[in-house]
Amino acid sequence: MSVPLILLLIAMEEKRMHRCKTGSFVRMLSLLLTVALLAGMLTAAASAASLDNVRHYDVYTCLGDSVAEGFGPDFQDYEGLKRAEHAYHAYVADAVTADTFHPMARPGGSTGEVRFYLDSDYAYNAADFRVPYPEEKALALRAEVQKAVSEADLITLNVGSNDLFTTSLFAVAAVLYADSGIPEDVENMLGNYGELGKAFQSMLVTAEKLGRLPEVLRTFTEKVSEGFQTFRTNWNAICKGIYALNPDVTLVAVGFFNPVKTLRLSSTQPQIGQMMDPIARMMNNFVQYQADYAKQYLYADVYHTECYELVPVDDPTFGSTLVPAVHPTHDGHKYMAEQIVKVLPEKEEPKPCDGGENCPSKAFTDVDRSADSWMHEPIDWAVTNEITKGTSEHAFSPDASCTRAQAVTFLYRLAGEPEVKAAETPFKDVKTDAYYSSAVLWAVEAGVTKGTASDAFSPDKTCTRAEIATFLFRYANAEPLENAENPFSDVPADTWYTDAVLWAADQGIAKGVGGGKFAPGSDCTRAQIVTFLFRAK
Ligand SMILES: [Zn+2]
Repeated sequence: MSVPLILLLIAMEEKRMHRCKTGSFVRMLSLLLTVALLAGMLTAAASAASLDNVRHYDVYTCLGDSVAEGFGPDFQDYEGLKRAEHAYHAYVADAVTADTFHPMARPGGSTGEVRFYLDSDYAYNAADFRVPYPEEKALALRAEVQKAVSEADLITLNVGSNDLFTTSLFAVAAVLYADSGIPEDVENMLGNYGELGKAFQSMLVTAEKLGRLPEVLRTFTEKVSEGFQTFRTNWNAICKGIYALNPDVTLVAVGFFNPVKTLRLSSTQPQIGQMMDPIARMMNNFVQYQADYAKQYLYADVYHTECYELVPVDDPTFGSTLVPAVHPTHDGHKYMAEQIVKVLPEKEEPKPCDGGENCPSKAFTDVDRSADSWMHEPIDWAVTNEITKGTSEHAFSPDASCTRAQAVTFLYRLAGEPEVKAAETPFKDVKTDAYYSSAVLWAVEAGVTKGTASDAFSPDKTCTRAEIATFLFRYANAEPLENAENPFSDVPADTWYTDAVLWAADQGIAKGVGGGKFAPGSDCTRAQIVTFLFRAK
């Protein structure tokens, strides 16, 4: 919303305030809030990047846990540190067209583990590594992670769920099975990433049967609270470590979702897992607003990530029911990637040349470099891509006609100067040592030219507009248009160049000379030929 419009609205509101004092302050406030909200929404919408148009980052480093790694029912990888095509990190790496991608996520990762990599003063503690990792390997990985962070242009950080959810489940198991010891099936579920929801459900079912549900839930809540303290301390230490290594990096803090929101004690009971919603929100609130580093990074909200929540089982503990799995589905990962790139800037559209200091054609005094000049951009392009130089240091000679030899040479350069097979052309008038002989050889082999006669190419003859249209038509391997409308009164229906000219007009390559004419027999100027090539490229 524009500033004048806001001022107008405020002025209207002030008039109303004079007429009626009661409640006007509230109305004023709500108006201002609405305006602020609208302005915010408009800004967000205008700058939100998508997977298709996010800006480029040279080096992308992904830090995090099993979610960042891509762990799931069909990707049970306990090593991590690799790219997984279905994971959000792969979508992000591709979207930002990263030249280098460092996948640095490991399953079971806690903030303690990631802190260990980034904070060299933080001591090794085996309990930080839920998927066991010996100190020696962890130290070696510390060096690798620090390098990956130092050279990154973009980092995503996604860790913390294990601090709160996983740690608390282990604590619940310790309390619930204090006397009997943890049953093997529960121990397996706790140790088996992806089955934490199932473990939680199993323990809640047992606790309910034993009348110990309140005790178990109290333990769980206490542990979540403790886990939150650890998470906060470590999160800030991680960010401090990242910025110490790389002060200018773009860091995206990836938020949290409730991984067990559909958890039920039986298929007919309510979703008790929803009690975890506030925990995920509390973590998001901390990461987004209250972390020491909240103002230095971008926050990506992924609260609505879809998980493999409901896995049907027929199990002695649960009976025939559905159990939750805690990891995102493939769609969930794509959504996470979309939410991440949404907070990044869009690709910048290349700005049109202003004809100034950086203009490739600035040396030419005979090129119209004004904003509405049709020849400016094509000539900049032709010079930059070495299709042609000027005719002298200060002249491009845009209005000079060009020869058939020159036209074919320009086209050959546009094609990237591919190797030619034959040593000689069939044309008597093309000498093997002429600057254009390779170009003509290529043009014959590529079917671009057939010569002006079976043994003549007429290299020095001026190239006509009909001829260049024909060269381009053949170069594009195009087919004649069916039932094409002919917009040109000077292009008869049955000439050798009709198909080519109608095709070039249809493609927007050649636009005619005005007044419904194409001027097929007119000389093609240097400015015109580079314009045709520029549009055809
Ligand atoms: Zn320019």
